[in-house]
Amino acid sequence: MAEIAVPVVRNILQANERLASENRRRFDEAGIFVINLMSSPGAGKTSLLEKTIDALAGRIGIAVIEGDLQSSCDAERIQKKGVQAVQINTDGGCHLDGNMIQIALSAIDLTGVDLLIIENVGNLVCPAEFNLGEHEKVTILSVAEGDDKPVKYPLMFQICSVLLVNKIDLLPYTDCDVAKIRQTAKHLNPAGKVFEISCRTGEGFAPWLYWIEEKVREHRKNRTSSPHSDKR
Ligand code: MG
Ligand code: ZN
Repeated sequence: MAEIAVPVVRNILQANERLASENRRRFDEAGIFVINLMSSPGAGKTSLLEKTIDALAGRIGIAVIEGDLQSSCDAERIQKKGVQAVQINTDGGCHLDGNMIQIALSAIDLTGVDLLIIENVGNLVCPAEFNLGEHEKVTILSVAEGDDKPVKYPLMFQICSVLLVNKIDLLPYTDCDVAKIRQTAKHLNPAGKVFEISCRTGEGFAPWLYWIEEKVREHRKNRTSSPHSDKR
């Protein structure tokens, strides 16, 4: 049994890579910057989206794909912000994959969209292994989860371009050592950025927003299809 188990897993990942590159081609043609946002449940993915949308609305066209096992609560929260949001229910599945994104894309009007954020299923394990066609992976770790998470779930912290350490307003009530998180993250991913934020108070958002705006500009400029009636 063990002999066939490995090739089967590899085939799944290979098939996913193919779909992810198709998605990526589509994003690049349209000049859309795409983020795959990951964390454990409750770290603040949807709250981050709400605050980020508030800050960037009017300047950047934003769309969101929400991944959850069940319910459409998160997509509803995003729609209240006046932003296109599509909910994927994985029905028990613990991560999103390239095929789910392809299906979700058929329900989104990409005209005028500069930034697409895909909120993955809350899980620090397998979302790290499935590319969706995104340009950058962003991981959120809240200080309430403990500073040992990067050591315990290294892949998630190795592959993200940005690590957001959220809920820093709670630091006085936890034993979390942010310096330790930074140290482990740096060791796992020397080129990665770490921003300390609070989605509740808005503290620390400036560098995060600056990073997004830079990336959006870059991708808009490098779009591979000819821009149609573009006013920007
Ligand atoms: Mg959420
Ligand atoms: Zn999974």
